[in-house]
Amino acid sequence: MLTEYDFSVYRCPIDPTRQAKIILDDIHIRCERCKVEFKSREGIPNFLVSDAILPENCSSIKDLPCWKSGKK
Ligand SMILES: [Zn+2]
Repeated sequence: MLTEYDFSVYRCPIDPTRQAKIILDDIHIRCERCKVEFKSREGIPNFLVSDAILPENCSSIKDLPCWKSGKK
C-alpha cells in the first residue's frame, strides 16, 4: 500500500536542487511544485522521470518549474 510509504523523505527527481517535495495526493504520487505524477507498480513508487506523467497544459519536461529551478 502506498499509504505505508513516508513520502516526506522523497524529493522531486526533476528538481536538481531537491527542494520540491513529493506528496501523496489522493491515490496519485505527485510533486507538490511541478505537479508531475509518478506511477506506482505493485505498490512501489516509480520515480523514473521517463515514466512520469506530465501535468495537463505541459508538453515538455523542460517547461516544468522544477526543471527550470536548476537552469538559472
Ligand atoms: Zn517537481
